[in-house]
This record gives sequence, C-alpha cells and structure tokens, in this order.
Amino acid sequence: MTRAWLAEAVRRIEADYNRSADTHLIQVDLPHHDGIQLYLKDESSHPTGSLKHRLARSLFLYALCNEWIGPDTCVIEASSGSTAVSEAYFAKMLGLRFIAVVPAATAAPKLDAIRFHGGEIHAVDDPRTVYDVAQRLARETGGHYLDQFTYAERATDWRGNNNIAESIFAQMAEEEHPVPAWIVCGAGTGGTSATIGRFIRYRRYATQLCVADPVNSIFHRHYADRAAVALPEGCASRIEGIGRPRVEPSFVPGVIDRMIPVEDGDSLGAMRALGQVLGRRVGGSTGTNLWACAQLIREMAARGERGSIVTLLCDGGDRYGCTYHDPAWLAESGLAWARGEAEMAGLLG
Ligand SMILES: *Cc1c(COP(=O)(O)O)cnc(C)c1O
Repeated sequence: MTRAWLAEAVRRIEADYNRSADTHLIQVDLPHHDGIQLYLKDESSHPTGSLKHRLARSLFLYALCNEWIGPDTCVIEASSGSTAVSEAYFAKMLGLRFIAVVPAATAAPKLDAIRFHGGEIHAVDDPRTVYDVAQRLARETGGHYLDQFTYAERATDWRGNNNIAESIFAQMAEEEHPVPAWIVCGAGTGGTSATIGRFIRYRRYATQLCVADPVNSIFHRHYADRAAVALPEGCASRIEGIGRPRVEPSFVPGVIDRMIPVEDGDSLGAMRALGQVLGRRVGGSTGTNLWACAQLIREMAARGERGSIVTLLCDGGDRYGCTYHDPAWLAESGLAWARGEAEMAGLLG
C-alpha cells in the first residue's frame, strides 16, 4: 500500500472527527430525589445515530494503521445493526467496498440504513454462521473482516483521546457532584464498558461501573460465574445492541463493579417513560440502562447517599419504528412493559 493513500484515509477520518461536536450530556430531573442527579450521554447525536459511530471510527483507524486496509480492500463485518451502518459510512468516506453479513431475518429498515450509506448486504439463513461467513468472504475477496466483537476493546484509546469516558468526566466538571457515584452502560461487544472501566481505574476515580444486561444474556451469568460461557440454544434477548448468547472476546468483566440483569419488558417500559420525559423516542438499550439506574437511585436514597449517576442514551427510536415503538408489535411481543413504564414514569415525573 502507498503511504500517501494511507495518510489521506486517516486524514479523512480525523477531519470528520474534527468537524464533529461532542455529544451532549443531558440532565434528567428526579423530582423525588433531591440529592441525586441523573445524566444521559446522548450518543444518538453522532452522524450515524448511535454510539457505534465511535466504534466504527476506532476500528477503521486501528485497521488502517495496522495496514490491514488498503485502497482496494473490501471491508466486511458480521452485524445486522448499528455497527454496520456506521462502518458503511466510513467505508464510503474512504471509497471502499463494504459488505455486512446479516441474518436473513434482519428487519428491512436496518438493511435500508446500511444500503443508504452504500453498504452491501450478504444474508445468511442461520444467524450463528455470520462470523464464519464474514471470515470466508474476507478470504475470498482478499478483504478485511473488521470483527467488532474481537477488536472493540483494543481499538479504542482507553487512556484518553476524548473517548466516551474522558468526555463524560470533562462534561461533569461543573456539576454538583462532578465525580459520578456510578456510570451505567450496557454490553454488546463489551467495548464501551471496557473503555469506561479502564479509564476510571487509570484516572483513579472512585466511580463504580455498572453494566445493565438483559436477563437472557450470557454476560451477567459469566460475571457471576466465569465458567458460564454460552446460553442454551434459543435463549435470546429482545433488546437490540446488547445481551449476547456467547461471551464476546471484547467483554472485560474485571473492570465492572456490578451487573444488573433487566427483563426485556422492563427495558421497553423504561424506554417509553423516558421518551415521554424527553419528548423524543429512544432505543431499547437506553431503557435497559435507565432501569438499572433506577435500582441504584433507590439504593442510594435508602442509604441517604447523595451523588450523581451517568448513563448512556445509546441511540434514538427511529430505527425501531416498526418494532419497539409500534403498538401492534408490542402487543404481539408478549413482553410485559406496562408495569415498568408506570414505575419509571413515577421516578421521572
Ligand atoms: C452496541 C450497542 C450497545 C453496547 O455497546 P458495546 O460497546 O458494543 O458494548 C448498546 N446499545 C446499542 C443501541 C448498541 O448498538
């Protein structure tokens, strides 16, 4: 590969970053809890609409600087979700072909979003084969498999470089409790929790990291018992982006102080209640995060503790218009969300 091409590719990604503003940290009122403040890091405001914009940028820079990607490399990922959308965006920026390997059952709006950014779709019938198929396509095309689940934790600069953790602490600086008692996030690749957990320890903050995990996810079971590495067949979370059937290589349990399992119905109830308060729809994993925050808030209040909690608004509700935000889909889902919505509405209003 020519160094000139590489330099130009890196420049384009850095220029995109340089043109971008930081994502907002939004304070959410807790009218019944005077001494406790709740904040949402709004990752929906990235150019591709989710926290996966950060991951895609890091994966591309990592692969470029390793000289794994050149001017004629076909870039491949196993993802039906937000990662493929963000990666398609960066591939297009660099003039590279991008193929997303997706389960055949993937919802049409997501495929549309990948195609909108110029990505191609390679559908497979058995969802478990997406990793192997992505690897095979990379071999056949002489391409590069970005492999988010392996590289998420190491592609991100966890010590700083304005990663999500450094940004949160900088934005908290003028708050009543600038060092959060808790930061709460979910785990899909595990990359975000690894970055935040490492950063907290590196900077020697007292903050604790809590990961909110769907009940039907292996991560919280693995956290409790390192021998648990895979869920039984057919056991799956309904919350997109988080909760995995296998322990992903980027999941770093050692930097997590606590995990809270959350029922899918409660995630969607919390998602709906938060949407009402914010005046705009959010995604399901944001509801999962909020549900775990509510538990921590109740515990802090019971102990008479004061302090702040920061969590993530991972993506907006637009991509879930015909699932979580469709009353017919919700009714058919069999998920019990109404009780959780009422409970969360009580906390926020
Ligand atoms: C990927 C994702 C997460 C989890 O982030 P990781 O860094 O992959 O663990 C949470 N919510 C949404 C919507 C996501 O797409």
